[in-house]
Amino acid sequence: MEFIDLKSQFLANETAIRNRIDKVLAHGSYIMGPEVKELEKKLASFVGRKHTITCANGTDAIQLALMALDIGPGDKVITTPFSFFATAEAISIVGASPLFVDIDMATFNLCSKRLREKLNNISESEKAKIKAVLSVDLFGMPSCTEELEDICRDNKLWLIEDAAQGFGGAINNRKNCSFGIISTTSFFPAKPLGCYGDGGAIFVDDDKLEAILRSLRVHGKGRDKYDNVRIGLNSRLDTLQAAILLEKLKIFEDELKLRANLADKYYCNLSSILTSPSLPKGFTSSWAQYTLLTKNTAERHALMDYLHSFDIPTAIYYPVPIHLSKAYEKYKSEPMPVSEDYSRRCLSIPMHPYLTDQEQQLIIQKIKEFYA
Ligand SMILES: *Cc1c(COP(=O)(O)O)cnc(C)c1O
Repeated sequence: MEFIDLKSQFLANETAIRNRIDKVLAHGSYIMGPEVKELEKKLASFVGRKHTITCANGTDAIQLALMALDIGPGDKVITTPFSFFATAEAISIVGASPLFVDIDMATFNLCSKRLREKLNNISESEKAKIKAVLSVDLFGMPSCTEELEDICRDNKLWLIEDAAQGFGGAINNRKNCSFGIISTTSFFPAKPLGCYGDGGAIFVDDDKLEAILRSLRVHGKGRDKYDNVRIGLNSRLDTLQAAILLEKLKIFEDELKLRANLADKYYCNLSSILTSPSLPKGFTSSWAQYTLLTKNTAERHALMDYLHSFDIPTAIYYPVPIHLSKAYEKYKSEPMPVSEDYSRRCLSIPMHPYLTDQEQQLIIQKIKEFYA
């Protein structure tokens, strides 16, 4: 059994994907070819944003977003410690510093109540340094709630959505990647919409920001790439990856439905035994992961071993909250009790559109058996 089955997905769509790749090989426009523009149009219309700017990966996408908003040395950006390292890393790369706020116990996303408390309990001079909230759609669950939008508006903070895991999710009919001033995503192969290498995208409505982002991703280009008007990056999406994504986007809605069905099945069968992130009313997750909370670390390892003995793969997202990583040593004394607790107990089980009914049943049966 596969934790994420990219091979089955390829085999089910092999002809279409190979044909798309062949077209790129025939025209030979490997950098910024026509597929890149076509994909950007389709992505913008999918999420309901005016502009999509593709780039080299999801980490660059966050970095470019921060650069476009002129966030840098001396600035602070609020974010969650319960995410992939890249979320905080992108803040540090531009010279700013992350300010961690713990997560909500039910959704596993940045907690609005704690954020409000944090903002109410710091000095005006400290508060003036905070420029933005970088909110992560963890495991696919939308994180940019109305409450979070209100807090950002009231405190004059930019809201940036890190939807690396969230592409495909929504709050009512507002899609992930359409929240805040800028949203970003990743097309790393294992993400809900993945390519066959690294890739990412940035989503904006504002025309000025769009122009800045298009410049930033190609060495800060002005009229052309030898007219350099600002310091940027080399961060383009390969034409070949765009071609692959165009084919995968065609099947994406069907895949989302299959993920949602599997999540329902897991929930119906396992929610009385184990907690998992609870989806507020009107929210749609892209189900990048299906995560369970065991009682403690020992139980987690026993359950993992039990499942592995039946060839059921598992993964831990995330074993170390970002503020406890070596790189962020100076943050380790700031308690983030929920993130710390969850990192000791969380366990993700296979979640992808190509799990057979038999495999789904086996996973559910073995987890039930373990707790019986
Ligand atoms: C994967 C991921 C990223 C980074 O994306 P890459 O394409 O791997 O650079 C950033 N944030 C979150 C939450 C992620 O899951």
